[in-house]
Amino acid sequence: MTEFYNANENESKINLDWKKKKIWDKAIKRNNKKEKFYFVDGPPFVTNEVHEGTMYGIFIKDAIIRYKLLKGFDVRAQPGWDTQGLPIEVVVEKKLGIKNKKEIKEFGEEKFIEECKTLVEGYIKLNTDIMLDYGVLWYSKEPYRTYKDEYTESVWYGIKKAYDNDLIYTGLKSTWFCVRCGTPMSNYEVRDKYYDKEDKSIYVLFELEDGRFLLVWTTTPWTLPSNAAVAVNSDFKYIEIENDGKTIILAKEREGLLKELNKEYKILREIDGKELLGLKYKHPFKDLPQIEKNADKLGFVIDGKEISSEEGTPFVEIGTGSGLVHSAPGHGEADYKIGIANNLPILSPIDESGKFTSDAGWLAGEDVLNVNDKIIEYLNKKGILFAEKTIIHKYPHCWRCKTPLISRASQQWFLSIAKIKKQLIEISRGIKWTPNISREMFESWLENAQDWVISRQRYWNTALPIWQCTSCGNTIAIGSKRELLERSGLKEIKDLHKNSVDKVEIKCEKCSGVMRRVPDVMDVWIDSGSASFACINYPASKEEFERYFPADFITEGNDQIRGWFYSMLVMGYIATGTLPYRNVAMHRFVVGEDGNKLSKSEGNYKPITELIKEGYSRDSLRITLLKHSLDEVVVFTLNDLKDDNKTINLFYNLGNLYVSAKEVLKTKDKDEIILKTEDRWIISRWNTVKRNVQTSLDEFRTDFALNSLINFLVNDLSRTYIKLAKSRMFDEEDYTAFKTFEHILKELSIISSIFMPLISEKIFKMIEKRGSTITSDFPAVNETLIDDDLEKRMERTMELLQGILSAREKLKLNLRRPLKRVIIPTVYSSSILEDIIMRLGNVLHLSYELNVEEFDPTIDFSRLKQRMQQNELTVATSKFLELTKETVLRNMREGLKLSSEGKDYNILSTEIDLKPKSKELAQVNAGKDVLVVDSGISDEVNLLWIKREVIRAIQNIRKELGLNRLDTIKVYMTINNEPENSIKNLIMKEILSKTGGEEGKTEKLLKMQDLNISSNNIVIEVYK
Ligand SMILES: [Zn+2]
Ligand SMILES: [Zn+2]
Repeated sequence: MTEFYNANENESKINLDWKKKKIWDKAIKRNNKKEKFYFVDGPPFVTNEVHEGTMYGIFIKDAIIRYKLLKGFDVRAQPGWDTQGLPIEVVVEKKLGIKNKKEIKEFGEEKFIEECKTLVEGYIKLNTDIMLDYGVLWYSKEPYRTYKDEYTESVWYGIKKAYDNDLIYTGLKSTWFCVRCGTPMSNYEVRDKYYDKEDKSIYVLFELEDGRFLLVWTTTPWTLPSNAAVAVNSDFKYIEIENDGKTIILAKEREGLLKELNKEYKILREIDGKELLGLKYKHPFKDLPQIEKNADKLGFVIDGKEISSEEGTPFVEIGTGSGLVHSAPGHGEADYKIGIANNLPILSPIDESGKFTSDAGWLAGEDVLNVNDKIIEYLNKKGILFAEKTIIHKYPHCWRCKTPLISRASQQWFLSIAKIKKQLIEISRGIKWTPNISREMFESWLENAQDWVISRQRYWNTALPIWQCTSCGNTIAIGSKRELLERSGLKEIKDLHKNSVDKVEIKCEKCSGVMRRVPDVMDVWIDSGSASFACINYPASKEEFERYFPADFITEGNDQIRGWFYSMLVMGYIATGTLPYRNVAMHRFVVGEDGNKLSKSEGNYKPITELIKEGYSRDSLRITLLKHSLDEVVVFTLNDLKDDNKTINLFYNLGNLYVSAKEVLKTKDKDEIILKTEDRWIISRWNTVKRNVQTSLDEFRTDFALNSLINFLVNDLSRTYIKLAKSRMFDEEDYTAFKTFEHILKELSIISSIFMPLISEKIFKMIEKRGSTITSDFPAVNETLIDDDLEKRMERTMELLQGILSAREKLKLNLRRPLKRVIIPTVYSSSILEDIIMRLGNVLHLSYELNVEEFDPTIDFSRLKQRMQQNELTVATSKFLELTKETVLRNMREGLKLSSEGKDYNILSTEIDLKPKSKELAQVNAGKDVLVVDSGISDEVNLLWIKREVIRAIQNIRKELGLNRLDTIKVYMTINNEPENSIKNLIMKEILSKTGGEEGKTEKLLKMQDLNISSNNIVIEVYK
């Protein structure tokens, strides 16, 4: 019966059929005007082909969207793509052989932006095709693209609102900066990009005005020209030492450093850190223009006691260096802080390509990444280089181009979060999070959120819509293309990208001067953060906004707490003044078998298009990913995928079973339905499962819903119900099993289409000629058909059956060999389904009482030892020995309640070794139940055993000979040692009816076979 499901062929056919019938559009239209469900796609970044990790998120989205559609919602689901930003530029640069930002200018900004568009569109096409091939049908809707003018207009609207509400300002910001990419990096982008780098570690002598020297340590010699102060910790002790005729000051704790550097020295005296504060030193680069200009503002010893980095490292450390720290407020976040606190000039004479500017005098034009040797040579010549070493330390690098970053202060545009933080936290409490833990993570992120540096100095981003007067400095923000046309008096603007709008001039309202756009573009998170209102083009088009806003559902990975969930809240709140989304499901990442993030260069995953070529079903990839808990990291393995492929195959074979039963029954016109226990049970189970799926999906728990569904499909329906009802299903006299199966299979195909759409559609089509899973209604739950008691009894019954099957295995008795008797002393007959145990276990008699004559019960020490100490065991044993056998056997249901000196020693039934006297009796424990299997032979056992073995033998012969259901055969059977034919007479009729044969012989012997069963020798002859 088991057939192989040719996934690729079947799935492609179904996809094609859906496409031809425009089934998705039909399904969406069907719910027009019903209750709305607005889903906003967190736009995946558009470089590279999607992989298992991306698909995980997409499948969660698809499951919820499909569910809501079945539930009759007017669903708005549109794919989106995050299309701008540095990674795209880097790919285009590589393609064009461009090495830095300057070469982009030479190539032409407009041409460069066109190249970016082409690249992005190529990826959108590639990935959209993959999604549709995987049956993610909402990808057939035209996606929103963050680079499009209509999208940009919405983003501009948000920025204008922020500007008009005084949330946008400029300021100096010391940030990590990539000189190759010419752009600052946020801390977030730098965090895990620290790699080993070899650097110079130098100790420099700064001469105090009184002739003593400060010993100053740095690993960034190129920042010394911008030194503004030397920081000490006023709580530390310092020492003066003499070396080579000089008096040198360093921290007392760091005396060991002198030995490390092989310096001869003598300690002169100890001084307090406090004494050093305010001392003035001769700047080692005092001739540079920027130092000359600021001479009276810099060159002091200051206190660094209170300052530490964002990670909490103190500015003046005691474990490294000399206890005197070179401070350059233009080159480092903590340096910047200490600079502001001490009113120091912020010197940062480095341009965007990493070259010194004229402020750095004779250093102008030098490349900061290669200038260290020159600076060291200069210090050496001046006689103030105390020591020089090389070190290998962790240093941040650009995540795109791997160039070491420099820390540089530059003028940037900020979005004030401080001013709206209270409101953000307040409205965020209206979000419903799944899993709930995400709420705390989000709120704690919000509480610590800093003002947002929104400007970037690149090309392929949304232009910052701020125009500044070249005469009076007045600035304004522009909120739409129309506003820009009106203010500039232009008729048309080609597009809203930098290259185009940089040429647009506006007349200043204050001084009639010329206003030009500030040259910056924006952080791409401003784009994606605007999605809730920008993908419906608010405010240019109000209709969809009024119908759908705010979003009812979004879902992304846990990294988006500080990413998209955050930027969506900020931009949505700024633009609309309200909460932009209501429900969030947060999932974790997918990692490969090696536990690492999926990465092309690691090669730890197979491209998903490969999986199809290798015969894996598209649906099996879905369930492999979706069955994992939303709270846990998903480890993706091919073994899992293979297993889930089997589930798809099993579903397919249920469909085949249905089709062949329908074939057999099609001539019959039956309407009488008489439910048996197994029918009532599977109907109850199915309604329970429907209810579970519905409740779980209402809470956005795709994992719970899917696991409940797969458990039903595999265990309840296939392994249990079909086993019980299969023979009835082909029985022309009993229509009930077939009808029950048909009803459930159809509903199952509709609900499972949420998680495995392609196979589900295939099954649905086996039952229904018209329609589709996609245009169906979610099958309603019928509470009145749920029988909890019946389900509980079945559950216990299945546990007991498991016990019987394992006893059979131990005793090497196959299922065709009837068991004379099974005793279950731990249950009441009313708490199980006797009939089912007897049928599925092939058991002739069931009983619940143990006969004293048959057993010598003792304690099973090996079990009891697992939970009792030796002394407790001794007491329990002696108490047990006081009991009579009858008492022990009579108490098997509740277990034995022993006590001694006020202490209880309870013994569970499964901890009692019944020690049957006869070899034919064997004890097995199943869960909390105890069973005794009687393998003795009786006439009854013998008779049924022979009957079953003979039927099977004849069916095998039929199969071997390639005979089908309708071919009749003649059967002749002899049972030796049975001259009266008493057994034969009892069983022959049933054997013939089950195997489609007649009794007798003809000329044509097809096959003869010997069987030895118990003490009988049987010969079967099959004739044509
Ligand atoms: Zn870079
Ligand atoms: Zn002006």
